[in-house]
Amino acid sequence: MKIAIIGAGFGGMAAAYDLLKAGHRVVLYEAAEHVGGLASGFKEPHWEWSVERFYHHWFATDHHMLGLIRELGWEDQVLFPRPYTVLLHNGKWYPFDSILQALLFPGLGWGVDKVRFGLVGLYLRLTNNWRPLEKVTAEAWMLKWAGKRVYEKMWRPLLVGKFGPYYRQVPMSWFWARLKARTTRLGTFEGGFQRFADLFAERLREMGAEIRLSTPVTRIERDQASGLRVTERSGAETFERVLVTVSPAAMARLVPSLPKDYLQGLLALKSMGAVVMVLSLKHRLSEEGYYWFNLPKEAGYPFLALVEHTNFVPPEKFGGEHIVYAGDYLEEGHEYFSLSEGELLERFLPALRRFNPAFERAWVNKVWVFKTKYAQPVPQVNHSRHIPPIQTPIEGLYFASMSQVYPWDRGTNYAVEIGRRAARLMLGGSDR
Ligand SMILES: Cc1cc2nc3c(=O)[nH]c(=O)nc-3n(C[C@H](O)[C@H](O)[C@H](O)COP(=O)(O)OP(=O)(O)OC[C@H]3O[C@@H](n4cnc5c(N)ncnc54)[C@H](O)[C@@H]3O)c2cc1C
Repeated sequence: MKIAIIGAGFGGMAAAYDLLKAGHRVVLYEAAEHVGGLASGFKEPHWEWSVERFYHHWFATDHHMLGLIRELGWEDQVLFPRPYTVLLHNGKWYPFDSILQALLFPGLGWGVDKVRFGLVGLYLRLTNNWRPLEKVTAEAWMLKWAGKRVYEKMWRPLLVGKFGPYYRQVPMSWFWARLKARTTRLGTFEGGFQRFADLFAERLREMGAEIRLSTPVTRIERDQASGLRVTERSGAETFERVLVTVSPAAMARLVPSLPKDYLQGLLALKSMGAVVMVLSLKHRLSEEGYYWFNLPKEAGYPFLALVEHTNFVPPEKFGGEHIVYAGDYLEEGHEYFSLSEGELLERFLPALRRFNPAFERAWVNKVWVFKTKYAQPVPQVNHSRHIPPIQTPIEGLYFASMSQVYPWDRGTNYAVEIGRRAARLMLGGSDR
């Protein structure tokens, strides 16, 4: 078969891999000038490694991703250091990413709240039955089982940070998936995610794939006589099968001829965008060497997370520079999307002194800002009933996006999983 895949992120590339293995001809269309999608990276000429545009790491439970890397023969290039995630309490940072540290965290006192926190965490780690949990909001469930103090101190800030105005609508199943899949050790690829994406693209080319970079697709339609016509700026080409891996809103724009029900289902899916600033600094910011700072909105930081990448990957990989991310999940109309790099820097810089009082502007070598309108799907109560099927009502046309990996939260691991699931369906198999 002749197959087109729209998008050369990890979902599209994983699908291409299986379709090529099965002997089909695959053309990947990619709007950007590079592969890797949301997990792509960039590199200064004197850096040994690339830096992800949006902070990225793997968990030790990312079996689909790690399994694919093993199949490709590159498992010796996966690194799993042990960086530290911290939480703020009374103006001080406390490590908070293992059961032991959670038990030692002073923010919950030493009484019944800590016990409830521990029991709820244990239950969520042990149960596999997420279905009843999607019938209730995370807020209602947590208030009932973990109690007001635990919810307000620990879990509400996380929900508010990720989902902004939608935080009260998110089902408990999202929380279950989050706690289930997290590990303290975090992984990356030797050279950065972009090196892995480039190696993967190279392997696909060797297997016969054609990857058309800087080629945004503008329309997909079914032509009864010849198949599915994929149109881009310089022309159109027809395929027997097409897999689209863009956002639901972009899918609706690309294929307006989809039946009304399916289109409405796509447009009803909610998501948050993200704005992330990457700074190269002359000195280390976190003196304690922490990697990930969770920042509660009430503490008045102009961003949600501060991530010192070079406390995860050593600064020697970046010519001795210290790489820091400051990022936030935001609704589409948020003013950060329209601020220039300079304006955003003015907002963000004063907050850096809160991580290190010695910080001053002269520490900054260079700044980059990355923005995406589609960063984090927002699940709703009973979300499993609202996920659009991978196989669309148009014959031969398939759709696989971050919004369909529920109950799991988005991640490259699940992009690989849904990409491979879509490939199985396209080959006439089942989607399980
Ligand atoms: C802020 C942030 C932090 C994250 N952190 C992590 C993390 O720590 N670990 C992790 O595993 N995951 C993380 N993720 C999620 C991860 O990046 C995604 O789940 C994954 O990359 C999605 O892959 P995909 O192939 O489904 O989609 P994408 O990567 O979005 O790929 C879709 C591709 O389609 C292309 N495209 C769009 N429109 C067109 C068009 N019209 N024509 C042609 N091409 C088009 C895009 O350019 C893109 O390359 C994070 C994401 C964000 C935003």
